[in-house]
Amino acid sequence: MSPEKAKELESTYRVVRRSIDARQRMLKVNLTLLTDDHDQPVPIDSPIPLYTPPVFHDVHHAKQSVTIVGAGPAGLFAALTLLEQGIRPIIYERGKDVSERKKDIALLNRNEAFNPESNYCFGEGGAGTFSDGKLFSRSKKRGNMQHVMELFHYFGAPDTVLYEAHAHIGSDKLPTIIKNIRECILAHGGEIHFGQRWQIQERLPLRGKPTEGATILSIGHSAHDTYRELAAAGVALEAKGCAMGVRVEHPQALINDLFYHHQHQSVIDLVGNASYSLVTQVPPSPTRGSRKGSGVYSFCMCPGGHIVPATSEQGACVVNGMSASHRNSPYANSGIVVELHPDGRTAIEWLAYQEALEREAFQQAQGFSAPAQRLRDFVEGKASQTLPACSYLPGIVPSRLDQWLPAEIGQALQQGFRDFDRKYPGFLTNEAVILGVESRSSSPVRIVRDPETMQSLSHPWLYPCGEGAGYAGGITSSALDGIHAAEAAVKNLKI
Ligand SMILES: Cc1cc2nc3c(=O)[nH]c(=O)nc-3n(C[C@H](O)[C@H](O)[C@H](O)COP(=O)(O)OP(=O)(O)OC[C@H]3O[C@@H](n4cnc5c(N)ncnc54)[C@H](O)[C@@H]3O)c2cc1C
Repeated sequence: MSPEKAKELESTYRVVRRSIDARQRMLKVNLTLLTDDHDQPVPIDSPIPLYTPPVFHDVHHAKQSVTIVGAGPAGLFAALTLLEQGIRPIIYERGKDVSERKKDIALLNRNEAFNPESNYCFGEGGAGTFSDGKLFSRSKKRGNMQHVMELFHYFGAPDTVLYEAHAHIGSDKLPTIIKNIRECILAHGGEIHFGQRWQIQERLPLRGKPTEGATILSIGHSAHDTYRELAAAGVALEAKGCAMGVRVEHPQALINDLFYHHQHQSVIDLVGNASYSLVTQVPPSPTRGSRKGSGVYSFCMCPGGHIVPATSEQGACVVNGMSASHRNSPYANSGIVVELHPDGRTAIEWLAYQEALEREAFQQAQGFSAPAQRLRDFVEGKASQTLPACSYLPGIVPSRLDQWLPAEIGQALQQGFRDFDRKYPGFLTNEAVILGVESRSSSPVRIVRDPETMQSLSHPWLYPCGEGAGYAGGITSSALDGIHAAEAAVKNLKI
């Protein structure tokens, strides 16, 4: 149906599913309405509850507790699951609470100071707090995913997260939701210790049980120091395939024209700025040193968003994207990444590959400015004499990414951008700029666990989960993995 009609129905009736179909020149909205026993649509103000609210138990005097390392989506949703089961969660988070964290992020955005313990990756809510807050996943486990959405809604996310195909919260709303989750955990008797890095040497004996008993390890994929300590403690780790590349930014108006077929602004106001999802396979190339082809794809596209400095280490430059709930900045950014394989490297050697790329990017720009090149110049191997306006607050400096990116990444990206332009002519333009490096799109390391018990293969009672364990990627799938880890720990405690 037309966006106008959809808007009218959406403000009158309960919606169970909404998606945008932009394949044809006429933009369509697919809307599924909730109906009653007589097949009539249910009015928006119906007293029927949206879902059964969760029940959290008072655990102040609970006999059993579970330690959780890291307060990202995986750790926080694990804690909520423990409260539902009447078990006390005790969380250790190396970063600060969300309000204090905001101050450190403001300093970083102004290129004034970097706090290695409080940044876009570390602190309450994890990497998901100052993010785009896209809440969708490629996971097929929709039933459980709905539970994650309901919990987000319960703690303050808008109704749209319950039915939007590509639900989105926004970095202006996420901190309040995270604060509400914290207040719920504390009010029910859970503990949260900020500014406390869980020390592996002290708490994880070689091949033994963690000193605090059942421990959920939800550290995200940026804590390289913790990965190294885990390796030293003999925890089973392996290198896994991941993806690295750059972040590209176009004017949003250009992306709207390309992907929404030159719609009038009044239509875009109804459906929101256009986003895209691109993928191509580039053939093998001996100069790239690759015998197999590589997937090149867009990742974490942020319409109306900003590019942000997402490193967790001094001397490294990492970029990522975020947006506010209205997604109304004049820029559209997305990671464009190349699939990479460890090719026999150990987990720690593979981390070193990622770190070398991030340090090179830092060297190219210095401070937290990012090295940048106009998109067409990058693909044609030319220096950019000037750079366009860009949303990246610490600033960008001209750099020859075409020359210093490793061939397996740089050349695959050049080919990928040409392919994208063939499908969407105009995508490859010097109005767009690329920034380096988008290196943390997924974890390069897996903390290997038993698929049934979810315990570390080397350490009983240690439950690695979330993005850092290499079994999830993104906010919702990490949250879901945290729920599963907590359920596995509870099951084990009850045996
Ligand atoms: C800028 C940005 C934008 C993003 N946008 C999106 C998006 O729109 N949608 C989406 O789905 N995903 C997005 N992501 C990815 C998403 O945030 C992650 O996939 C998700 O947060 C992973 O959850 P997690 O709980 O596994 O780990 P994390 O969120 O990384 O949390 C891990 C936590 O563990 C803590 N920690 C680490 N080591 C220790 C230790 N030794 N002791 C104590 N604490 C420790 C860290 O401080 C951190 O708070 C974005 C990421 C970034 C950086």
